[in-house]
Amino acid sequence: MRCRTMPETCGICGETVPFDATVHAMIHTHSETGVIDAYVCQDCYDEQLGPMFERVDTQEQSP
Ligand SMILES: [Zn+2]
Repeated sequence: MRCRTMPETCGICGETVPFDATVHAMIHTHSETGVIDAYVCQDCYDEQLGPMFERVDTQEQSP
């Protein structure tokens, strides 16, 4: 049985990190794969994903 409190595996570095320390990233690949959702550790998010994405704020909404 899987438990929600189990650690997640970072989708980038493969490190096992506590769930609380993960960032849920939605990555649009612009290919037939579509959207990948993955959990990554905070360090990888900052290093790999942070520069790629604007932080998603509610202030910018498409009509
Ligand atoms: Zn990582």
